[in-house]
Amino acid sequence: MQCELCGKDCFECRPGLVDGVRMMLCIGCMKYGQAVKETVVKTPSNVQRNIGLIRKPREKDVYAGMTKELVSGWNGMIKNAREKKGLSREELGFRIGERTVTIAKIENGDLRPSDSTIGKLEKELGITLLEEVKQVSAGVSGSRPGLTLGDFFKTEKK
Ligand SMILES: [Zn+2]
Repeated sequence: MQCELCGKDCFECRPGLVDGVRMMLCIGCMKYGQAVKETVVKTPSNVQRNIGLIRKPREKDVYAGMTKELVSGWNGMIKNAREKKGLSREELGFRIGERTVTIAKIENGDLRPSDSTIGKLEKELGITLLEEVKQVSAGVSGSRPGLTLGDFFKTEKK
């Protein structure tokens, strides 16, 4: 085996990170790289995945007062509607311009479809995937008649 940094034959190469790139390093070159721990490799992809799932849906409609949310069980709805139409995942993907693997991820609930994909799915499958949801804060004063608006803001600031 050869060291990927200096090219020397090395008896015992170990994986190391050099400028973020994973390389096999000889003992002499280990000092230029950071040792790779398996947990380090796993964490970033998990974090990214969570950000993709949780953050994206919210950003757009924050100022609208009403937000559109995916209905609960949206992934199952997509799957059922597709099967009712007798379409394979591949065929559906072709019609809306998504890869088969993307359709599979969406149906498994692993991937939230983008707004444009949602629109295409609704149109293609004849289903409604988005429902309008009122902002939670709008209902607070109404549900507690004892509080004045001033009280409401005081509790908000705590
Ligand atoms: Zn080396």
